[in-house]
Amino acid sequence: MHVVGGSPPDLPRPQRFVLPLLESRRESPTVMTFDFSTQGADFRYRSNQAIRLALPGVNDPWGPVRSFSLSSSPSERGRIAVTCKISDTPFKQALSRMAPGDEAEVYGPLGAFLLDRHRPGVFLAGGIGITPFRGMFRYAADTGETEERRLLYSARVPEELVFRSELDKLSRSSPNLQVRYSVTRPTESKVRWTGRVGRIRMEWIKATAEPLDRPKFYVAGLPEMVVEMVTLLRSRLQIPDDDIDYEMFRGY
Ligand SMILES: Cc1cc2nc3c(=O)[nH]c(=O)nc-3n(C[C@H](O)[C@H](O)[C@H](O)COP(=O)(O)OP(=O)(O)OC[C@H]3O[C@@H](n4cnc5c(N)ncnc54)[C@H](O)[C@@H]3O)c2cc1C
Repeated sequence: MHVVGGSPPDLPRPQRFVLPLLESRRESPTVMTFDFSTQGADFRYRSNQAIRLALPGVNDPWGPVRSFSLSSSPSERGRIAVTCKISDTPFKQALSRMAPGDEAEVYGPLGAFLLDRHRPGVFLAGGIGITPFRGMFRYAADTGETEERRLLYSARVPEELVFRSELDKLSRSSPNLQVRYSVTRPTESKVRWTGRVGRIRMEWIKATAEPLDRPKFYVAGLPEMVVEMVTLLRSRLQIPDDDIDYEMFRGY
C-alpha cells in the first residue's frame, strides 16, 4: 500500500507548483476531469503517481486540500489531469467552477502506486478507482509496451463507467490490453446494459489471471472495495503480498 506523502528515493521529489487550469470536462453524470498546464513548470512524475491539490481561500469544513491520483500519463506532455467525483462539498463545488486560467496549488508528485513495466498485470477498478489505470494504460500505449494487461472494471451503472470509450479504443489498438466491464446496479439506470452484472468476484479474477505468467495485481477504488479485493486475492487466490499493489481513495 502507498500512502500519499512519502516517496522512495528514486522517484521525482515532490515540490509545490501553482498551475493554471487548461480545461475541464464532464466524464459521467457525477465525474469531471481537470487538466492543468505544466508548461514551464518542470513537473515530472512516474505513471501513476498522485498529487495534493489545494484551492486556497475555499472555506470547506475539511480544509482546502484533497489528494488525487493523476489520471494523465507522463507521455501527455505539458499538462497533468485529475478526475474526480463532484460532490456538494465546498471544495468540489469550487473545483467544478474553475475557469481556464484559474490557478490551483499542486504539491507532488506523491505516492508509489506504479506500473511495473516488465510484468503482466491484472487491474481491478471499482468506480472512480479507474483514474490511475487510465494514466497507466495511456502510458503503456504511448510507449509501445507489449506486456499483457487485463482490466476488470466495475461501476454502479453503465454511465458511470468513466473513460469507457477511451479504454475501448486503447484495447482495440493494443492487442495486449483487454478490458472487461461489470455493472452492479443496472436497474438504476435508463441506459440499456447487456453486459456482465455484479461485483468483481473470485472466479472472474481467476479466469482472467490464469493465462498470464505470474501477473502483478493492482487494485484501486474506495476503501471498502480495495479491502474486499485484497483480502480475496490474498486468502482465496493465495497471491503473495509482493504481487499485489493497491491505492485506496480515502475521504468518500
Ligand atoms: C491516494 C489518494 C488518491 C485519490 N484519488 C482520487 C481520485 O483520483 N479521484 C477522486 O475522486 N478521489 C480521489 N481520492 C479521494 C479524494 O482525496 C477526496 O477525499 C474525495 O474526493 C472526497 O472529497 P470531497 O470533498 O468530495 O468529500 P469530503 O466528505 O469533504 O471529504 C474530504 C476530506 O474530509 C475528510 N473527511 C470527511 N469526512 C470525514 C469523517 N467523517 N472523518 C474523518 N475525515 C473525514 C476526509 O479525510 C477527506 O480527505 C483520493 C484519495 C487518496 C488518499
